[in-house]
Amino acid sequence: MELGIGGPIPPLGIMYVSSYLKKKLKEIDTKLVDFYFYNLSDFIKIINDYSPDIVAFSSLSCEKNLLLELSKEVKKINANIITVSGGPYPTVSYKELLKSRGIDFVVCGEGEEAFLKLINHIFYNYEKDLLNIAYLKDNNIVFNKSELYADNLDDIPFPDWDIIEMDKYFEVYNWNGVNKYRRYMPIITSRGCPYGCKFCHSTLGKKFRKRSVENVLKEISILVEKYGIKEFHIIDDVFNFDLERAKKIFCEINRKYSSSLAFSFPNGMRADLIDEEFISILKKSGCYKIYFGIESASDDLRNRIMNKNIKIESINSAVDLCLKYDIIPAGYFIFGYPGETQNDLKNTFDYIKKTKLIIAHFFKFSDYSGSIREKSYDSFFEYSEDDTKYYIYKAYVEFYDIKRIFRIILYSPNKLKILLNITDLLFKILIFKIILKLR
Ligand code: SF4
Repeated sequence: MELGIGGPIPPLGIMYVSSYLKKKLKEIDTKLVDFYFYNLSDFIKIINDYSPDIVAFSSLSCEKNLLLELSKEVKKINANIITVSGGPYPTVSYKELLKSRGIDFVVCGEGEEAFLKLINHIFYNYEKDLLNIAYLKDNNIVFNKSELYADNLDDIPFPDWDIIEMDKYFEVYNWNGVNKYRRYMPIITSRGCPYGCKFCHSTLGKKFRKRSVENVLKEISILVEKYGIKEFHIIDDVFNFDLERAKKIFCEINRKYSSSLAFSFPNGMRADLIDEEFISILKKSGCYKIYFGIESASDDLRNRIMNKNIKIESINSAVDLCLKYDIIPAGYFIFGYPGETQNDLKNTFDYIKKTKLIIAHFFKFSDYSGSIREKSYDSFFEYSEDDTKYYIYKAYVEFYDIKRIFRIILYSPNKLKILLNITDLLFKILIFKIILKLR
C-alpha cells in the first residue's frame, strides 16, 4: 500500500547509457541484471555465461555494501573484467569506492558521453584526458572534473527499453506506491536543477536542460503503441522549472490522448512554481498524484540550513490546489538533518497532524553531497541515530491515522488494490500481535 516506499523502477540512467552506446558503437552488446530480481548465484552464473568485458554498476548509498560485494565477485570470476560504477552514490563517493579495490573506474555525473569516452579509452586508446571519470593510477586517485553535460537532449536516443525485463517491474511496488495502471514507465523530460538544496546530489548538474515537447511526445507515443504503457512517472529533477513548457507538454498530451493515460510525479515538483492553470491541465491529462519535497515544517531548517528556499505557505497552497482538482498531494520529509533541533522536530510533528497532505514519506537524512556533516551548524545533533529511527516511526504512526487511510482510499485511482493492501497490512499486524502474545 501507499504507506511505504521502495521497490525497483526501470533504471532509466542505465537504459539511456545502453541506447547511447549502441548508437555510437555498432559492435557493442549490453545486458542488464536488476539485482532486485536476482540473487548472488544467479549473478555469478550470468557473468560466467555472458562473459562481459565490462561490468558496470549503478547504486544508491543504501546499496553500497552490495555494490562492493558484487564488484569483488566479478574480480574473483575474472580479474580482467573491467568494473565501472556510476549514479548518485558513486558520483559523490568515488574515493571510497576506488579504495575498495573492486571498482576500476567511477563515472561521475551524467553517464552517456562519459561512458562512451571511457570505452574509447579502454578499447581504442582514443581518449587521453578522461573527463568525469575517477580511477586509480599508481595508488593515487585521478579525477578530471568537468561540466560534461549534453546540451541538446533531443540528440540522445530514447532509453533502451528492450534491455529490461519489463513485465517484472509491473508486478512489484515502486516508489510511486499503488499505480492506476499496471503497465507504467518512468520518463525524464529535462535534466538538471538550478536550485541549491544542500542535501541534493545534483548528479545531472545545475543547468536546467530540456527536451523539446515533440521529443517527449514521441517517446510517450512509442511507449503507448509499442509497449502498451498506460501510465507515466515523470522523474525530472524539477519538471516545472519552465512552467510554460510544462503546460505545453501536458496540453499536447491532452490533445492527443485526452485523459486515457495516467501520470504521477514521484520525484517531486517545486510547490512554489505551480499555478491553478497548470494543475487543471494536469488533471485533464490524467495526473492523479504529485509529490512535493517539504523536508521539514521548520522554515529555519528548510530554508536557512538546507537552502531549499521555499515557504511553507507555498507548499500548503500547492496541496490545496491538488485537492481542489482531485489530485493526491504527497510529501517527502527528512529527519536527522545536521542542525535539526527539538524545536524543528516539534514544528514538523505539529505540521504532520494538521497538514492536508494525503500521503507522506519520512526519510533518515543521507549525506549525498558528502560534505554536509563536515560543516558546523548552530546545534549539530540534538538527538541520536536511534532517536531518528524512532521519530520516523512516530511520524508514520501519527500521519497515517484512520481519517488519512480513509482519504487514501477515497482519492486513490485504484481503490480495489488499495483496499486489498490495507486488508493485507491489517492481517499481517494481527499475525504479528498473535506471535508476540504466544512468545
Ligand atoms: S529543488 Fe529538488 S532537484 Fe533541485 S536542488 Fe532542490 S532537491 Fe535537488
